[in-house]
Amino acid sequence: MLGTGTPRPDPRRSGPATAIVVNDTPYLIDFGPGVIRRATAAYEKGVMALGFGGVNIRTAFLTHMHSDHTIGYPDLIFTPWVMGRKEPLEVYGPKGIKPMTEHILKAWQVDIDGRVNGLNRHNSTGCKVNAHEIAPGVVFQDRNVTVTAFPVRHEEMVDSFGYRFETPDRTIVISGDTAPTQAIIDYSRGCDVLIHEAYSMATYDKVSSRSQEFRRSHHTSSIELAKIASAATPALLVIYHRSNAGGGPVSSDSEDVLLDEIRRDYSGPVVAAHDLDVF
Ligand SMILES: [Zn+2]
Ligand SMILES: [Zn+2]
Repeated sequence: MLGTGTPRPDPRRSGPATAIVVNDTPYLIDFGPGVIRRATAAYEKGVMALGFGGVNIRTAFLTHMHSDHTIGYPDLIFTPWVMGRKEPLEVYGPKGIKPMTEHILKAWQVDIDGRVNGLNRHNSTGCKVNAHEIAPGVVFQDRNVTVTAFPVRHEEMVDSFGYRFETPDRTIVISGDTAPTQAIIDYSRGCDVLIHEAYSMATYDKVSSRSQEFRRSHHTSSIELAKIASAATPALLVIYHRSNAGGGPVSSDSEDVLLDEIRRDYSGPVVAAHDLDVF
């Protein structure tokens, strides 16, 4: 778990970013703010597959176009390149990822020219990006993983996806941002790890009715997630992207409250993820 946060700039929780490592090959899902700093912290903690500065990250998947999941995109494109990546980045995501990629490359054109043509003589290939706009179904396959994208429900962000990663030893499903939807149950049934977002009813009760409506249409409550997990029966449920905005001061027990709410209706193993946790 590189970043488990939300739009709220909590220094303890970087923006949403998750790495799945298979046979020493990293696959990134989402690139929220701080992604390469956290990837480097993970490397220094022993997740060597990422490479220093995330230089080994060559394949990334985006769940949806919200800024909290994409602000780290220029960081993902340029920092590993500056640290030595030679291969272009392959990025799979919703409609809009192609123009976003083109705009970022254009915005940093002066930097690219300077590094390639100046004294640094940087390679000119590692800052290239092949952006793939995807539709639901199998979107990526190599000798390590088969990645299936499925539609989730995030109100006006119509093009929002969850991803199912099938690897030789484990199947991992990540929800992205979503309100409850049958697709999550269908795609995570019997998986090894379900990484899912959630908000607690304790914080829901404290926010305005407008914020409550926003949460209901965009996100999943503890009670709803308990039902989803009971139907899907993952071997492990990992909660990330836990909302608190407007729900009062953040304290470590707000996480326990969320877990307690889920455990009321769900008896399987469940943990609340922190940045740099490894599962
Ligand atoms: Zn989000
Ligand atoms: Zn979102």
